[in-house]
Amino acid sequence: MPICFDLDGTLGHFSSGFVLLREALGEVWGQMPTVEELGLCRGSTDREIVDELHQRRFGRSLDETGYATYETACVARFRQVFTSGAQEPVGYRGILEGMHRLAALRQVWIVSGNAPELLAFKAELLGIDPAIPRLGSLPHHARKDLLKRALSGCPGPHLYVGDRPHDLAAAQALGLPFVGIGGAVPGDHKSLPSDTGAEHLVAAVEAALGIVS
Ligand SMILES: [Mg+2]
Repeated sequence: MPICFDLDGTLGHFSSGFVLLREALGEVWGQMPTVEELGLCRGSTDREIVDELHQRRFGRSLDETGYATYETACVARFRQVFTSGAQEPVGYRGILEGMHRLAALRQVWIVSGNAPELLAFKAELLGIDPAIPRLGSLPHHARKDLLKRALSGCPGPHLYVGDRPHDLAAAQALGLPFVGIGGAVPGDHKSLPSDTGAEHLVAAVEAALGIVS
């Protein structure tokens, strides 16, 4: 019964994230993409976003080497900023604790748009149990495809917890129940504030799955 969690904005946040992504690309490409260029991207995963920026700048898709180079530069940039103490991530303590309580009873996955190595770094920094599997962005995978991959072979019911409309859209595309974190995902699903307590998260997830505890 996999319960999947998005990471950024759902379990915590790394406020300078998009600045660092732009800086990493500036290092690799010689010029930083602008905020406006980033704003034009329609994808929700790093792979989709970096590919869109690459196409706009160079007129062709990003290849595997190009993505690996970006990923290495981006993780290095995050390490510089977050392991030096220059910045600290904000973890949503109640949600993190609730996720770990759920993981003690059921299969939990982190399914995020971060490049895999960046996702590994962020998850570690947020203190997420290494036993919880992580799935980051992959070539030719929109967010719903990542979710589908995490769920494949596992018996349902499944569920996605996320903070953005693209998370809800991915859940809906697969017919999954959804629990929203924060106020940026309107809809008739259950929504919780980011400072919610662990017990409320567990109760909301179980209610959305139809589990009576
Ligand atoms: Mg998010």
